[in-house]
Amino acid sequence: MKVSIFLAILLAGAACTAEIPDRVITVMGEIRPDKLGPTLSHEHVLVDFIGAEFSEPPRYNRDSAYWIILPHILEIRNLGVKTFVECTPKYLGRDPLLLKKLSEETGMNFITNTGFYGAIDNKYIPAPVLNMPAEAIAAFWIAEFRQGIDGTGIIPGFIKIGVNPTELSDFHKTLVKAAAQAHKATGLTIMSHTGPAVPAFQQLDILKSEGVKADALIWTHAQNEKDWSKHVEAAKAGAWISLDGFWGGAEKAAEIAEMVVNLKKHNVLHKLLLSQDSGWYDPDKPDGSNYQPHTPLFTELIPALNQAGINDADLHQILEVNPGKALTVGFRVYEE
Ligand SMILES: [Zn+2]
Repeated sequence: MKVSIFLAILLAGAACTAEIPDRVITVMGEIRPDKLGPTLSHEHVLVDFIGAEFSEPPRYNRDSAYWIILPHILEIRNLGVKTFVECTPKYLGRDPLLLKKLSEETGMNFITNTGFYGAIDNKYIPAPVLNMPAEAIAAFWIAEFRQGIDGTGIIPGFIKIGVNPTELSDFHKTLVKAAAQAHKATGLTIMSHTGPAVPAFQQLDILKSEGVKADALIWTHAQNEKDWSKHVEAAKAGAWISLDGFWGGAEKAAEIAEMVVNLKKHNVLHKLLLSQDSGWYDPDKPDGSNYQPHTPLFTELIPALNQAGINDADLHQILEVNPGKALTVGFRVYEE
């Protein structure tokens, strides 16, 4: 009896003092969030548009894809990028082993994901999943977090879902609910391909009803919402605002710069993520002729941001500090 009380006190003490350090999960393992360095928070090295039914096993030769992709990664490494958040979900060409090979070769951090992508009317969702309850869907993602992806031992660093750019369908509500449940089990941040504000705010409502705070959500493709006050509103609620569509062009650069300035004006620059959504090796174009470089952010967008009054400290916040915080594994939940 005495021994067990002693043990209980010891264990309680250990629980109080054992602080779990903040961490981000890359394909090579865990790193501290402040070690991410300059980060591209939403890119793709590969996307296969064939649809869920035919996407696995891969339709491409991994080595051939690797040699097409590598020069594009070396190009951004030369520009100082240290971390690449790869947002291609399962059934759309997610390939953790390819990312690991790129990471080993370049020394850069690559982060992959778990989750299912419901946008494009569920083309990338296997038919049986459409009838599953949220708990069963979440169980897939939680298992990948605990056991690694498809026997590779590689752990996902965030949950990627996707919804249509309209009011949420019943199934998309289920996907969001599953993401909330998986967040509560894993502490992984939810990155949701969304677009307009209507589905973004519906998702925040569902998360809240599941006890999950807004900071667990990255509102992805927020640039597609033209009412910029919605960016501010969601950021003030705690959500991450991801402006992530830029393949070049002065007009587009100026527009995104204005969105960033608006967030700065409202003191929510600490909730902004900025990236390009570029790359996309396509197995149907194996010569890589369609591959969009990951460089316009540096060659065009940053100069436009500078011109609009976004300074180096702001850029450090947006491209280094914020991604580390957004992708830190941790439970963003309301106290019971
Ligand atoms: Zn994307």
